[in-house]
Amino acid sequence: MKKGRPYRDPVVFEELVCAFCRGRGRDPFDIMSSLSTCCVCGGSGKVLVQAPAVACAHCQGTGAVKTLTCTTCGGSGSVSRPLQPTVSCSVCKGSGDDASAPAMACLKCRGKGWIIEQLRKGKRVHE
Ligand SMILES: [Zn+2]
Ligand SMILES: [Zn+2]
Ligand SMILES: [Zn+2]
Repeated sequence: MKKGRPYRDPVVFEELVCAFCRGRGRDPFDIMSSLSTCCVCGGSGKVLVQAPAVACAHCQGTGAVKTLTCTTCGGSGSVSRPLQPTVSCSVCKGSGDDASAPAMACLKCRGKGWIIEQLRKGKRVHE
């Protein structure tokens, strides 16, 4: 019988105000109609993001790129950050934007502005 930590840590979600509609639950850009519900939160005004949540770089936490839902965070304005060490994306310099088309997410980091640190394989072995 083993005691101690569970096999997997439970997934924790943070409840955040929907960035796309700013918690109003309505389509902020009246794309369908001013009465249509926000496609991100389904009208609840809140979104759940896996903890720890950090602001999305691509939309700067607004959930929208121009009038479109941000493809990086799905419109919530936040993305969950992995537990692994991350480094700033060298392609977009952390902005999350594609250099040729700022409305597009950076292909390398997928708009997050950071990537999981890749430990390079080399001849030297850690420890
Ligand atoms: Zn919403
Ligand atoms: Zn975003
Ligand atoms: Zn990038």
